[in-house]
Amino acid sequence: MNVADSQRLASALERLGYSESPIIEEADVIVLNTCMVRQSAEDKAIGRLSSLKPLKKKNPDLVLGVMGCMVGFKDQTEIRKKLPYVDVFAPPSNPKPIIDFLIRQEYIGEASASRNVETDTVWEPGKLTLPASRRKKTVAGFIPIVYGCSHACAYCIIPYKRGAERSRNPEEILDHARSLAEQGVKEVTLLGQIVDRYGLDTAGYPTLAELLREIHEIPGIERIRFLTSHPNWITDELLDTVRELPKVMKHIEVPAQAGNNTVLENMRRGYTDEEYRNLISHIREKIPGVSIGTDIIVGFPGETEAQFEDTFRQLADLKLNVVHLARYSPRKGTLSERTMPDDVSDEEKWRRFRAVETLQEQIATELHAALEGKILPVLFEEKQKGRWMGRTEHMDLVYVESESDLTGLILPVKINWTGPWTMIGELV
Ligand code: SF4
Repeated sequence: MNVADSQRLASALERLGYSESPIIEEADVIVLNTCMVRQSAEDKAIGRLSSLKPLKKKNPDLVLGVMGCMVGFKDQTEIRKKLPYVDVFAPPSNPKPIIDFLIRQEYIGEASASRNVETDTVWEPGKLTLPASRRKKTVAGFIPIVYGCSHACAYCIIPYKRGAERSRNPEEILDHARSLAEQGVKEVTLLGQIVDRYGLDTAGYPTLAELLREIHEIPGIERIRFLTSHPNWITDELLDTVRELPKVMKHIEVPAQAGNNTVLENMRRGYTDEEYRNLISHIREKIPGVSIGTDIIVGFPGETEAQFEDTFRQLADLKLNVVHLARYSPRKGTLSERTMPDDVSDEEKWRRFRAVETLQEQIATELHAALEGKILPVLFEEKQKGRWMGRTEHMDLVYVESESDLTGLILPVKINWTGPWTMIGELV
């Protein structure tokens, strides 16, 4: 979601005539997009801001902005007091205050008038276009379709920072997707904290499955993904649609967070280990060859060794393709921070983290090894250290050697080498 927000801001700035500066010291505008989902992310953002402070001192004309969860969408008095050297603050998913600020400060000068940018324009990301120089290179784009979340898992800061769940207008989503397609984007990812709840909060809106069907019709879009799902909201209608539509990638991100029922209840996730396991079997039955990703938090308050073992066993049994792993860190104001002591030591959290990491490395190694010798379609994104990097339908990273420009092409690749996190192949 933050990458999508940054893309929206970057597009808006480019529309105003700004271009990306490879050297931070030479930038006229620096915006730090912040995440607070874990303590480590917050610490990183604060550290980065302190490192930017001297730049502002050296160049008082520099516009320094902060956006995202650190700003939140409610009262900004506290953060403004805490960061007096920051010029402008913007909440998550809304770059408008930054654009307004730049226009007001006449950083844009005469040019803004001819571009018809008005300070009170309602923000319409779908209408933005990227300049020609960026078009060629843009392969994958993100489309937020549900803002905020109303689930309130005990540990989660997102409902406090991104507000209650709001589905985005379907016409605006389709406009956004068409605009990305016109810019040459080949793959779109629909985003929501509980993406499969799309439309449920607004009468008359389509379901996620119906929306996928409409996006599927847009010429130029070759791949469609969506994330993140919640185990309680995945429907058969959605799974059937994923199976039927060739452009929709057979990859589902559906976090378990834990594999022990007491921990799941304390987390307020709303399902049991058995229900999660049944759901995974059901998804696999409905979509043969599907790949599945999960999120796991280790060291949640009160998590005993035996309870952690249940999570470990769930992962060992299910052999999912991807595990996004986190150590619990209390987020101020959440239910767990207020009512549950953070009683698993850092050392123990790390031990559990490494145990799952090692397990998943073995599982991923096995799953990838089965792909050796196979020919898979790969969407190429960019050249990295002399090799072309692309992704399979299942989001697996593949590298190939080629002298041609492969940006944005989907090509068949024979897999010659596999490891736990990447694969190497050759164009066929
Ligand atoms: S579903 Fe739970 S973890 Fe996900 S954003 Fe909502 S509150 Fe947070």
